[in-house]
Amino acid sequence: KLYNQVQDLKGNIRVYCRVRPCHQKQGSVSKIDEGSISLLVPSKNGKDGKKTFTFNRCFGPNSTQAEVFADTQPLIRSVLDGYNVCIFAYGQTGSGKTHTMSGPNNPDEETVGVNYRALRDLFLISEQRKDTIHYEIRVQMLEIYNETVRDLLSADDANLVPVQSTADVLSLMDLGFKNRAVSATAMNDRSSRSHSCLTVHVHGKDLTSGKTIRGSIHLVDLAGSERVDKSEVTGDRLKEAQHINKSLAALGDVISSLAQKQSHVPYRNSKLTQLLQDSLGGQAKTLMFVHIAPEQDAVVESISTLKFAERVS
Ligand code: ADP
Ligand code: MG
Repeated sequence: KLYNQVQDLKGNIRVYCRVRPCHQKQGSVSKIDEGSISLLVPSKNGKDGKKTFTFNRCFGPNSTQAEVFADTQPLIRSVLDGYNVCIFAYGQTGSGKTHTMSGPNNPDEETVGVNYRALRDLFLISEQRKDTIHYEIRVQMLEIYNETVRDLLSADDANLVPVQSTADVLSLMDLGFKNRAVSATAMNDRSSRSHSCLTVHVHGKDLTSGKTIRGSIHLVDLAGSERVDKSEVTGDRLKEAQHINKSLAALGDVISSLAQKQSHVPYRNSKLTQLLQDSLGGQAKTLMFVHIAPEQDAVVESISTLKFAERVS
């Protein structure tokens, strides 16, 4: 209850941390509770230091997809009330971003991610309201790679596809993933070096008053946040890394200036923030899932992820 009050005071930005299961016996995470996470940080003099970070919610390795989504559900409902919502998955490659948003490959009822659950709720609630409001739901899937936006559902720009059911959305998402994979052969696992964005537009018409309601939700699986060693990469790989750094930094700048209620919000500094401008700030609601890979050798990236998360919360 306390967290909800804090969120109300802080406005429309919330940050959740999620730690995936550890592949090692002894990981870097020493403690997780509902609102904070502590990491053991090795130092050169051999003494481990402990760093604690606090967030709106923290989910440990045993948290289920359903538990993670339960806290997200009110945001989905607000889309049908006319709000714009952005949900981001941030973290280094392998930390669990795609797991949170989409689930594993061939997910089942229990393991499906936020994307599917969000769409399912949108259809469920619109069905419940059908005697008073008529809703139309349309989706779009985009990829941003090297600051270039590409539509994953068609060759046209910014294509909005009407959908009637979650099954429609699932087959479109399949198509999107396949289109995304076409270019992945040239550069291995491009998916970790591009942002992918599933957008759902909701248009409702109140059947008695005739009033219209417009809402949207952007579900964004961000490119991996890991820093690449400039001395080790060159050419295309370096260019990719620079584009990713730039756009994640721009996203961090936008959200932190919103969180601090600054008058100037620097939306123009990246394609991602330009694209989402209408859904970041104002009445819009933002949820950032930051992901932690708990292995000891990921600790430097984990600290950098948690610092990013602290800055935007
Ligand atoms: P990312 O998208 O950040 O690169 P993935 O979502 O692909 O990371 O996760 C990396 C691996 O860890 C995958 O095999 C995924 O299924 C697994 N994984 C991630 N998060 C969880 C979790 N919460 N529970 C179980 N397995 C997970
Ligand atoms: Mg991924």
